[in-house]
Order: sequence, then structure tokens, then C-alpha cells
Amino acid sequence: MSEAVVAEQFKELYGVEPEGVWAAPGRVNLIGEHTDYNDGFVMPFALPHTTIAAVSRREDGVLRLHSSDVEGGVIELELSALAPESDRGWTAYAAGVVWALREAGHTEITGADIHLASTVPAGAGLSSSAALEVVVALALNDLFDLGLKGWQLARLCQRAENVYVGAPTGIMDQTASACCEHGHALFLDTRDLSQKQIPFDLAAEGMRLLVVDTQVKHSHSEGEYGKRRAGCEKGAALLGVDALRDVAYDELDAALSRLDDEEEVRRLVRHVVTEDQRVEKVISLLESGQPRAIGPVLVEGHVSLRDDFRISCPELDLVVDTALTAGALGARMTGGGFGGSAIVLVEEADADTVTKAVEEAFAAAGFTAPRVFAAVPSAGARRVL
Ligand code: ADP
Ligand code: MG
Repeated sequence: MSEAVVAEQFKELYGVEPEGVWAAPGRVNLIGEHTDYNDGFVMPFALPHTTIAAVSRREDGVLRLHSSDVEGGVIELELSALAPESDRGWTAYAAGVVWALREAGHTEITGADIHLASTVPAGAGLSSSAALEVVVALALNDLFDLGLKGWQLARLCQRAENVYVGAPTGIMDQTASACCEHGHALFLDTRDLSQKQIPFDLAAEGMRLLVVDTQVKHSHSEGEYGKRRAGCEKGAALLGVDALRDVAYDELDAALSRLDDEEEVRRLVRHVVTEDQRVEKVISLLESGQPRAIGPVLVEGHVSLRDDFRISCPELDLVVDTALTAGALGARMTGGGFGGSAIVLVEEADADTVTKAVEEAFAAAGFTAPRVFAAVPSAGARRVL
């Protein structure tokens, strides 16, 4: 899907050339899982897969939306009628961004025609929703000259998703899509939103990072997310801290001994505190030029999510176990859990063998065939035409 094709489609739909074309990527999280609602650390990188938007301004208070990726024609909305949770369809993700920008005082947005097309797989834990939000936000920021920075756009996109769509998500996805850079992972401190670009140029190092989309989503995942979140908040309250991020790694044993009667909370606390520590370990390994050494840290992260946080599933465990047996440097589930995707770090020369081993193991177990692709750390949101 090229930007020129998306511009051409815009012209066919709306009868004129778009004023511009923008792209925003999906993401995978390298390390730092279920830390974002504990004020902790995350480390996503952008995928080469993007959502592209061709956009023009309007002056009549009308928002027209179209996506190549869903059935149905152009949807026309009045800006004055946009309201949280008024829309249960895909258009809420785009309309929510317009609503959030105008709510934040950017009433110079007087309408727009938008056409979208995406290569980010939807619902695979690769954040197609954030890609859609961020591409719309960036296009409007440029066209209406709002002067907002990437992290500010990310905040407003999160507000769109939390309040307008009604999905309780953290700040990682939108920040990754807005702020990542090619050849880098993005360290994000979710407490103060400070960021740092960490070199992660896999191709230059002769490695690959495979994303294995298991194509499963277990139905209880949303309720389980809420339970984990509540358990973490309970842990912070019992330990007398604002958030689990405030429990230092060195003080973990002492903290756990204070939670003797709370077996489940203990496990959640142990995951979050050790996971923040793993993010710091991965940063120091990458910054000191030891990218292969992050493999075992990824595996520790998986074990912690599987045994302490208890959000893995047979498909994700099978990816990790099979990949490691077939010679991968490291592997772990990524995202919310109970399905979605796993990541596998491999030497370039082993990529095909490991992929084949995972595909065969899925067939032997009677699971749906997984989608496997190599993910090159790519650029964040940008104007492309
Ligand atoms: P994820 O972000 O992991 O892909 P979500 O459930 O958060 O999964 O978001 C997926 C939803 O976002 C889709 O169901 C759809 O409503 C919307 N969406 C994402 N990409 C597009 C697109 N290209 N066109 C239309 N809607 C999209
Ligand atoms: Mg999403």
C-alpha cells in the first residue's frame, strides 16, 4: 500500500486531491509488560506496518471518514455532535481524536475529509487503534498548524481512546506510534513521560525479531486485565506507595515478606518490580553494544508473565518453548496476554528454521496456523506526501 495509491483513492472518493498524506506505525513492546499502569517503564519499537491517511481540511463543521479496511462507505459526522461513547464503530477512533483536540481548545479544527488504509493487522496486539488515532492527530496538527509535539498528540490520542471510545488503555501505544525512530526502541517512563531513543538496529547486527501472531484472543481477556490492574493497585496500597514503580528492586524481598497473607498480590508485585528491572537491564545491554545478551532477559520476562502474572496461554507458551528449542536467542509473549502475539529474537541465519519449527508445532498441536513476520524497528508517525 503506497501513499500515492491512498492519495488516488482519496481523489476517487472525494473528487479532489488530498492536501497531504501521513503515516503512523503499529508497534510491538520489546520489554516492560503490564508496567504502564504502575507508573513503570516500557520499551516498544515501531513496526514497518503503518496506517496511512490522506486528509484535507473543511470549513463547514463536517467530518467525513472512510477506511479501505472496513465495509461501508463514507461516514459523515457533525463536529458539534461528537460526544464520548456515542459511537461503537471504528469511526470512534478517528472522531475521538478530533473531539479530544477540540476539547483541548483547538477549535480552529473546522472539519476534515479523511481516507485511511492500513497494513497494521487489527486486533493482533500490534496497536492498529493507536496507529489510526496518531495518523489522524498528526495530519490535523500539520494542516491546522496546532504546533503540538509527538508526546502531546499521544496524550490526546490516549484520551480519545479512554474517554471517547471507552477503552482503558495506557499511554505506551500512542507514544510509540508518535515518537519512535528507525533503528531504535523507545524507552518511556510512564510516570513523567520522559523518553529516550535506545539503539536497536537488528539488521546491522545480523539479527531478526520475529513477530508471531497466534491469531487467538481468549474471550476472558478484558475481565482478567481489570483484575490484574486492581491487584496491582491493592499491592501498592498495602505497601504504602503511590504505585508499584516506587518499590525498589533492592527492597523487593522485604516488600514481599510484608504480603505473606496475599499470595496473588505477591505474585503481581513480583512481576511488576522485576519487569521494571528487566527494562533497565535491556537498556544497559543495548547501550553497551550487547544486543544478543537481551535474549535471556526476554525469556525471564515471559516466565514472569506466565507464572507470576498468569496471563499467558498454551499458544503463546508453545511459541516461546518451540523457538528456544529451535535455537532462538530469546522469546516472550508481548501485549495484554491470553492470545495476541509473541516476539522471537533470532540470528538472521536461524530465522527460517525457527519459523518453520513454530509453524510445525502449531500444526501438531491442532492450533490455527500463526502469522509470522520479521519486524524491523521503524520510524514513528510522519508526513509522507
Ligand atoms: P489493536 O489496537 O491491538 O489492533 P484494538 O481492538 O485496540 O486492537 O483496535 C482495533 C480496532 O481499531 C478495530 O476493530 C477497528 O475498529 C479500529 N481500526 C484499526 N485499524 C483500522 C483501519 N485501518 N480502518 C478502520 N478501523 C480500524
Ligand atoms: Mg489497540
